[in-house]
Amino acid sequence: MKKNIFIAGGAGYIGSHLNLAAHERGYGTVVYDNLVYGHKSAVQWGDFVLGDLEDIKQLRLVFRHFRPDAVMHFAAYACVGESVAEPEKYYLNNVAATLNLLRVMREAGCRDFIFSSTCATYGIPRQTPITEDHPQVPVNPYGRSKLMVENMLADYAAAYGMRHVNLRYFNAAGADRRSRIGEDHQPETHLIPLVLDAAAGKKPGVSVFGTDYDTPDGTCVRDYIHVEDLAQAHLLALEYLFDGGESISLNLGNGQGYSVKEVIDCARAVTGREIRVTEGPRRAGDPPALVGGTELAARVLGWRPALPRLEDIIGTAWAWHKKRFGHESGN
Ligand code: UDP
Repeated sequence: MKKNIFIAGGAGYIGSHLNLAAHERGYGTVVYDNLVYGHKSAVQWGDFVLGDLEDIKQLRLVFRHFRPDAVMHFAAYACVGESVAEPEKYYLNNVAATLNLLRVMREAGCRDFIFSSTCATYGIPRQTPITEDHPQVPVNPYGRSKLMVENMLADYAAAYGMRHVNLRYFNAAGADRRSRIGEDHQPETHLIPLVLDAAAGKKPGVSVFGTDYDTPDGTCVRDYIHVEDLAQAHLLALEYLFDGGESISLNLGNGQGYSVKEVIDCARAVTGREIRVTEGPRRAGDPPALVGGTELAARVLGWRPALPRLEDIIGTAWAWHKKRFGHESGN
């Protein structure tokens, strides 16, 4: 029988790609999203319920109605700087509201949970690539809020027999290859969409946050992973739990780092456009390099990224950018 997946935050960037991938894999989905940052237009598959995780009564009703077999949880605030300025917002939404979801799952007897965690739970890396057994010492409230949920999940697993996969994302990027959905944050803070805004002439240029890091070219190095590859890893994680797998934490990245300058150069090549760069100061809280070790995800899930090349990641993001803003590439 067709299994139903409850997707909290399924109108957001990664959640909407998951909803699409789950639909294509034949799952029934219900997206539950308050549309604070998500977009109704991104929910083109399955059912949609406008709702807040703070509203436990509505959550209970939705669980009674849809009887989900599993939950995927993307609904969280995710801006490091904002989390430093407004930690309460992060703990209320990312932690307290998630506890409502776990409570309703436990009451309903729904046991399988896929959690959107983050490499920010590791803090400043002691070694690269970062493996899952690296100490988790987050350096900002965002990372701490995600680690708190990982800890809650471990306790729920021990006490109530619920099972989870913590998926610790590195830098999600790119868009659906058919440009049906893509990245659309308001306000946008992420490097690749900002670089593409500059390429499209929507912004005068892009600022590089720090050029004096201890990295090959002095700019920060990150591990960019295509959002479709993230989505496929979630589906494999779901099947892993359905097949009786134990609770586990897995990194999701490409295992390869690119500097901010390399990203900008690649975007110049992909778009054929000039991208003006200004060199700015470091951004508070940025570790110099974050690159994920991904052997465990490969071994446990059989997951290998299908789109590991930066050109493809930026290329799909550019195709979506053009569609969204109705501009031509100039190529
Ligand atoms: N970055 C930058 N200029 C920008 C936005 C980001 O130089 O306008 C840098 C940022 O300091 C980090 C990298 O690009 O080193 C990736 O940042 P992003 O916000 O995309 O993701 P994060 O690594 O913070 O999750």
